[in-house]
Amino acid sequence: MFDQRGELPLLPFGNPIGFVPASRGGVDIESFMKAVRIHAHGGLDVLRYEEVERPRLTSPTDAIVQLKTAALNRIDLWNRQGLTGLDIALPHILGADGAGIVVETGEEVHNVKPGDPVCLYPPSGCGRCEFCSTDREFLCINLRVPGERLQGTYAEYVKIPAGNCFPVPAGLSFEEAAAFPLVFLTVWRMLVTNAELKPGEHVLILGIGGGVATAALQLAKQMGAHVVVTSSSDEKLEMAKSWGADHGINYLKSDFTKEVRALTAKRGVDVVVDSVGGESWVKSLAALAKGGRLVTCGATAGANPPTDIRRIFWNHLKIFGSTLGSRGEFRQLLSFMQVNGVRPIVDQVFPLQETAAAQCRLEEGKQFGKVVLQIAD
Ligand SMILES: [Zn+2]
Repeated sequence: MFDQRGELPLLPFGNPIGFVPASRGGVDIESFMKAVRIHAHGGLDVLRYEEVERPRLTSPTDAIVQLKTAALNRIDLWNRQGLTGLDIALPHILGADGAGIVVETGEEVHNVKPGDPVCLYPPSGCGRCEFCSTDREFLCINLRVPGERLQGTYAEYVKIPAGNCFPVPAGLSFEEAAAFPLVFLTVWRMLVTNAELKPGEHVLILGIGGGVATAALQLAKQMGAHVVVTSSSDEKLEMAKSWGADHGINYLKSDFTKEVRALTAKRGVDVVVDSVGGESWVKSLAALAKGGRLVTCGATAGANPPTDIRRIFWNHLKIFGSTLGSRGEFRQLLSFMQVNGVRPIVDQVFPLQETAAAQCRLEEGKQFGKVVLQIAD
């Protein structure tokens, strides 16, 4: 059950032995490609721009995508540093988000063909378990995401299950097409599926600037919510207002719970998007109205904050943990973006060779929106 690289096969379909690619689409495919890999975990200096073997089709259900762009996520930094607890085979190509052109497809692939511009739905699973068989691959115990258990998108080519290739929403550039999938999918599940956000509700988004927070701002505004954001940077608060935020709170200058209470006539907000954790966690819960919902997908400021459980049951609060989302949710998101003309906020674009500078920007928290890598024109 192991393929030539000693990896567990991603999908149960087909036998790689004797497999012949169905189509090369007239594209001249070289044996090698440029990629950014790590050979060891560590700081920015472990990122190496180098020539590596190009991925080959090993399953009739896979596709090879020539990447135009990749986008950075905080998880890339943790994978580089070895903080995720995953046993990643080294050397390894980081990167979960990417967009490009399909150049090769397995013989059982029918949803895309060579020449198609695609963005990538990140998660894939074993294909057999109770979660995979009910469109919840993101809960699969063998969950695979590019840049983690699969080789990632900081490269000229990536091999991916063809079912994870989706058409680029009309009007989006390749930079934007790489920038949205992971964070917008995560936020869609948090706000729409879990929190069931309604038009006119009040939403508090912590730490505006990062990919999740800016995606939450864009989607919540598009859904007709009143949005309050927090940051330690007045500059980021001003940028958030230019993107539609109704109110900004500098949490270094004032207590955001008190300010939220003052803004809402002591009522509190309906939904808090907290990807920060730490000291903010208790304040997030205190900022919620009765029956309010807190959605969390990160704990960058600390994973073990104190919680007053009485506040949760007295106030009938709901807490939703979330990462990624289903294919069905991804389809909903694509349709929503297309209908409403939502384009992700791109902070800066770096050439692939300058991945270390790009990751540095993310590490220092300087970005507003997504940091993108340009791989090909
Ligand atoms: Zn599974």
